[in-house]
Amino acid sequence: MSAPPSQRASQTVPSTRTVTTERYDFFRVIQSYLDEAARHVNVPEHVRGILREPKNELIVHFPVRMDNGEYRLFKGYRIQHSNILGPFKGGMRYHEHASLDDFKALAAMMTWKCALMNLPFGGGKGGIKFDPRGVSRDELGRITRRFFHALGSNIGPDYDVPAPDVGTNAQTMAWALDTYLNTVGMVHKTAASGVVTGKPVASGGTVGRETATGQGVVHCISEWARRTRFKLEGKKLIVQGFGNVGSNTAVILAALGVSLVAVGDHTGYLYNPEGFNVHRLKQYVAQNGSIAGYANGQKITREEFFAVQADIFVPAALENQIGATEAEALQVSLVAEGANGPCSPEGEAVLARRGIELLPDVLANAGGVTVSYYEWVQNKRSETWALEEVEERLEKAMLDAYDRMSQFAKTHNCGNRIACYGVALQRLVQVYVEREIFP
Ligand code: GLU
Repeated sequence: MSAPPSQRASQTVPSTRTVTTERYDFFRVIQSYLDEAARHVNVPEHVRGILREPKNELIVHFPVRMDNGEYRLFKGYRIQHSNILGPFKGGMRYHEHASLDDFKALAAMMTWKCALMNLPFGGGKGGIKFDPRGVSRDELGRITRRFFHALGSNIGPDYDVPAPDVGTNAQTMAWALDTYLNTVGMVHKTAASGVVTGKPVASGGTVGRETATGQGVVHCISEWARRTRFKLEGKKLIVQGFGNVGSNTAVILAALGVSLVAVGDHTGYLYNPEGFNVHRLKQYVAQNGSIAGYANGQKITREEFFAVQADIFVPAALENQIGATEAEALQVSLVAEGANGPCSPEGEAVLARRGIELLPDVLANAGGVTVSYYEWVQNKRSETWALEEVEERLEKAMLDAYDRMSQFAKTHNCGNRIACYGVALQRLVQVYVEREIFP
């Protein structure tokens, strides 16, 4: 029997380390992936220069009346990185530590993701710097409405299309849509409903969007397993972050016989060598807001979590979680990035040296924006697709993109992440070369 995690971990990871206290230049990291991919693709210097920076950086300040009658000023962002392939596209994040640098990185990543997936979208990202857990539901509604009101016609179904991200969900999008329809898009209501995606189904959302990111992660894992002749049934999973992406990934993998043995979120980490009942855990989190206090698991430290003996790790929380130390500690064969940017370049180098395969964010979590695209198309055409249609299209889109990544990696002898950026870059460069620069 292997040692309990508490003993194993103390040998491999110093217990004092916290990644989040270090300064991390997220945007610089994403720019460096572009530079690396550009070594494999013939990129005119001016195109690289354009793609290195966001096209527009919007910052708004707006007051909101809180429940106690006082007014609080909020800072909101929308970074529009590229719209050469179509409208800016990407989520809205509500988080107390969100910064301009983060949004620039995340917006650029959306450009790469949409180009890799062959979607007719560019990249954008935005949100508000505050803790959504610290306000009431009414306050959350007013904050969201004032934010989208402040953005005005800087978003729109054919210009910039937000969606959920960390700290936001379908309800946030319902408020956003309603605000947009009542202020900017009053006339063409049906077509204007495509101003945001990830909406509740009754408000113009699509079936299959809620689970799409997790489903996409699982398609990638399954395809990796098929190609490497790795039998998924009976294997073990660890997941960091049990929100929309982490929980749905765990639930869908459970149906394939993969059991979740360790899980963590902003409140801490839990271990259960027998495997968690993921349906019950998901329900618990829906009711309680986090995994804290869930009875069927033993509390472990962050360091112990990373050292748990398993087969697959899905980071589904925030960026910069897997540094060199965590990558050294991991006891898995595969890391599939449900989150955006969870691996630092140092962490990724360690994974590569240790032969741990990495499925990068721009591919692994692209199921979300792919089904957002299906939602947007349905809104444009006033159509309602069946779940099977959404699921079939998503699977094909994920497998095709996986294949593009593999082909590029093989031809150019590079890692999966740079292959994804390379595929995306080829597509973007072609468009710039064809259209040239105005005037
Ligand atoms: N926030 C998600 C992402 O990072 C989804 C974006 C979207 O659907 O537009 O990909």
